[in-house]
Amino acid sequence: MADTNQLGSVQRESRQVQAGFKILVAEDEESNFRYIEKLLKKAGFDLLRANNGLEAVEYIELDAKINLILMDIKMPVMNGVEATREIKKLKPEIPIIATTAFAIPGDREVFLNAGCDDYIPKPIRAGELIDMILSHIA
Ligand SMILES: [Mg+2]
Repeated sequence: MADTNQLGSVQRESRQVQAGFKILVAEDEESNFRYIEKLLKKAGFDLLRANNGLEAVEYIELDAKINLILMDIKMPVMNGVEATREIKKLKPEIPIIATTAFAIPGDREVFLNAGCDDYIPKPIRAGELIDMILSHIA
């Protein structure tokens, strides 16, 4: 796992950029979620968790005021690609960042074609993720 110490100035910047910015983290694995939760909270973001793709879609249906979604691809019940397609039908304006540890060549295009706005491979590096989130806020 990458360390969270590399946040530094990006962390301070993101605090100034968005107070109350809510990120939905769709992630089925507890340890992955805990890691992501730690680094996003440290960067000043609010977050919600979906345990699978269907829960992520349900949050959007409930209009949970979500500003951005970090979408794991490999999840039970409904995977991240299917969930992204459903969410983009409902709320195309919400940025979705796909993530997976198991990408093969060509996967990035599959994720983007499904409607994902960006892609970050696991293990997620804190600085890279925060920079990516900030680039979709601006
Ligand atoms: Mg997973």
